[in-house]
Amino acid sequence: MNKLEQLYEGKAKKVFATEDPDVVIVSYKDDATAFDGQKKGTIIGKGAINNRMTNFLMRKLEEQGIPTHFVEELNDRETVVKKVSIVPLEVIVRNISAGHFASRYGVEEGIVFDEPVVEFSYKNDDLHDPLLNDDHAVALKLATREEIACIKDYALKVNELLKGILLEVGVTLVDFKLEFGKTADGTLVLADEISPDTCRFWDSKTGEKLDKDRFRRDLGNVEDAYVEMRRRLMGE
Ligand code: C5P
Repeated sequence: MNKLEQLYEGKAKKVFATEDPDVVIVSYKDDATAFDGQKKGTIIGKGAINNRMTNFLMRKLEEQGIPTHFVEELNDRETVVKKVSIVPLEVIVRNISAGHFASRYGVEEGIVFDEPVVEFSYKNDDLHDPLLNDDHAVALKLATREEIACIKDYALKVNELLKGILLEVGVTLVDFKLEFGKTADGTLVLADEISPDTCRFWDSKTGEKLDKDRFRRDLGNVEDAYVEMRRRLMGE
């Protein structure tokens, strides 16, 4: 499989065309951004860790019946994935208050919810990804009612599966963001990545943050957190 022209460059990944119109190659970068792109930096080795961890977790989710875009890992940083049109919704699932939930609603971090909270943002850089509800998403024709129901169902199943996988390695899943895409035949699949960039991981015993909050909040040992998550999950 050869990388042809670059189709897209995002904050953390590049996407390349291939000879096969149904698949693309994703290449993970070490670039890190936060606060709507206002903070920029580099987390050395992040691209390789996020690529491998995403593939490791997507394989496990596939085994448990969640359709994903994953096709084949090419090397440390590059993966073949199904070509999809991304549903312009950031699907956030929260188990514990943190980040924008805590700041938006004026509560402290660390409140364990009785039930997971599913939240949508409109993926739109110009509008700074505003929060929206199902009715807004349907009105804006971002997804149909049925697609939203399916996305919520998948997101909650992913939450249960990831919580279990992480608990075994002493990590509490605080919250995370998913993105979904539609293949040429309209099938909804989990896309994008599942990594310390897109999830909050807290050590179950000490509460230590093992995710991108170390970069966002200048907590130090940023690379170490990514390496530690790879070690715990993948034993490397
Ligand atoms: O910032 P906030 O508290 O809304 O983030 C919730 C979760 O979604 C966090 O795990 C964060 O890493 C993830 N997220 C993301 N990309 C965004 C916004 C949030 O991966 N653009």
